[in-house]
Amino acid sequence: MIQDIAPHVLYNQYRHFIPSENDPVFCFCDEKVLIRLEDDRLSFPKVKDLNVNREDLIYLFSLDSSHLFLYLKQTERDGCEYIDFRTVRRKSLRPKESVYALFTAYHLAGWYLNSAYCGRCGQKTVHSENERAMVCPGCGNIIYPRINPAVIVGVLHEDKMLVTKYARGYGGYALVAGFTEIGETFEETVAREVKEETGLDVRNIRYYASQPWGPAADILAGYYCEAYGDCTISVDRDELRLAEWKTRDEIVLQENDYSLTNEMMRNFKEGKI
Ligand SMILES: [Zn+2]
Repeated sequence: MIQDIAPHVLYNQYRHFIPSENDPVFCFCDEKVLIRLEDDRLSFPKVKDLNVNREDLIYLFSLDSSHLFLYLKQTERDGCEYIDFRTVRRKSLRPKESVYALFTAYHLAGWYLNSAYCGRCGQKTVHSENERAMVCPGCGNIIYPRINPAVIVGVLHEDKMLVTKYARGYGGYALVAGFTEIGETFEETVAREVKEETGLDVRNIRYYASQPWGPAADILAGYYCEAYGDCTISVDRDELRLAEWKTRDEIVLQENDYSLTNEMMRNFKEGKI
């Protein structure tokens, strides 16, 4: 999965670091990021490469001993280009630890942009000095990073697995997925999403693993479960283009090892589930 980057380590504790010349900087423009690309290997511009005020750089996290910063305004750099996230994923760019850092930085960048003003009173917010939060000097509102919980579901039945294709967005094979509603457990989300998207009833719902997914600001919880009763699929065409039972041999894996979905499908294909 995207977060499996050992022996590298991403340290996301909130710290106060002053940017130095060789620290990498993330610069985003909508869904694009400024990178240098050489033979499908990506790297990020450094502080010394950019004509920016260092006081505008926000410390995000460290990758091994390297401190990474965010610059929220658009800037240019010779030898670098803005490319979108779909390209990063489609081309399976490397190194993986940089792609994971990029996904995580994108999540944080979106939160910083969306938290520039207080949602309660409308005043401009300021950075907290002792934790990752934005604080409203007017009403005291504290805004913490927002993470959207969602589930990925591997539905099984008679040695087959339910695979889907989304109606919009990612075009490869996927699994049933959906966001957790307020007041709902993950297990209830699993049962509700499977029912809504395919009409199936499920039981024996068990947790597998989780994955942070920065491009969608998500934390994904993966579950396996079994369909029972009438296992005829009724596809919700608003959500899915396709939903089918597949045998282990028929499972088509994704092109890279970034996603929890792919690992759950591979576990089934290889007989581990
Ligand atoms: Zn306020």
